Amino acid sequence: MPAIDLSAVQYDPLNPVIAGAPVSERRLSDLQGYFADTAAFEQALAMDDPVLYRVYSLEPGTGEGDLAYGFGVLMPGKVGQEYYFTKGHYHAWRAAAEVYIGLSGSGYMLLEDEQTGASRLLPLTGHSAVYVPGGTAHRTINTGTTPLTYIGINPARAGHDYGSIAERGFRQIVVEVAGTPTLIDRALYAASGRPA
Ligand code: MN
Repeated sequence: MPAIDLSAVQYDPLNPVIAGAPVSERRLSDLQGYFADTAAFEQALAMDDPVLYRVYSLEPGTGEGDLAYGFGVLMPGKVGQEYYFTKGHYHAWRAAAEVYIGLSGSGYMLLEDEQTGASRLLPLTGHSAVYVPGGTAHRTINTGTTPLTYIGINPARAGHDYGSIAERGFRQIVVEVAGTPTLIDRALYAASGRPA
């Protein structure tokens, strides 16, 4: 692989593939247990195991004051009525905040405050930026018809904590109701199966 110049990275906002950068790729099968409609998940997986998202990570330094950033590409689609999303995480260092800058596409960031449990759904599009405070679980959600692409920038020492989200999921989820992305309670959705 060619060495990357971490001081000056070129990218395509519609498809920010960063050659030579470490990439993490997540397929549908990697998100077993994450989507609320488990029957729809099994049905989809029986048909195909598409890539849902890729993140290209850049770490210019690992010192106390350094920043790390990543380019995300999240595909459009749904499992049942629930839009494709990234797994979501807290930062291992809970105080660490993050800035997301939308590059293209149309979607949201779902934030969940660890202390209060309160959810916030904030637009993430080609012309928006979202601030994720410390102590907040966060995921991106693609509610559009093209890939949702974005940059996330956080302290290099932030780290990732996927465990609690993997265990119990976000309290609220984004599903299509009558053609409109709608934030609803996960437990209600799971109890009712597919909403009308
Ligand atoms: Mn993060």
